[in-house]
Amino acid sequence: MICPYCSASDDKVIDSRASDAGRAIRRRRECLKCERRFTTYERVEETGRVMVVKRDGTRVPFSRENVLKGVVAACGKRPIADEAKRRVVDEVDEAVHREYEREVPSRVVGQKVCDRLKVLDEVAYIRFASEYYQFQNVGEMLDELTELSARTKDVKDQQKLF
Ligand SMILES: [Zn+2]
Repeated sequence: MICPYCSASDDKVIDSRASDAGRAIRRRRECLKCERRFTTYERVEETGRVMVVKRDGTRVPFSRENVLKGVVAACGKRPIADEAKRRVVDEVDEAVHREYEREVPSRVVGQKVCDRLKVLDEVAYIRFASEYYQFQNVGEMLDELTELSARTKDVKDQQKLF
């Protein structure tokens, strides 16, 4: 496995355990060159999975990689751990496969990602929402921003009490 930090190709596995309710093996690895640690996941190839129905009616297999790409793009340089991004993908994957057997509208997948990013990081949420979920109009986006800033204010007010 190529080290994501220094691109060396030698590493050792320092921990290996079941993840995602046994559907994946999570391996903690340490680069033999720079000694930094990273995580890989091994899972069954994604075939015969739920199909995502896009806006134009075309169907593509549900892809964790695509969801992760969207999440990573939305997070940008925000201080969000890779593990947290992976967890968003895990949760969306799990929810989609629990609630839909054959097909799921892309809008629903986008909404599920939005729901989780909203809790994780508000900037990432707004970025994702405007890019993938698409607000109907500027007013709708402003409503959302107003709600978010009101929520932040509530948290600050609560903190003052202690
Ligand atoms: Zn390295």
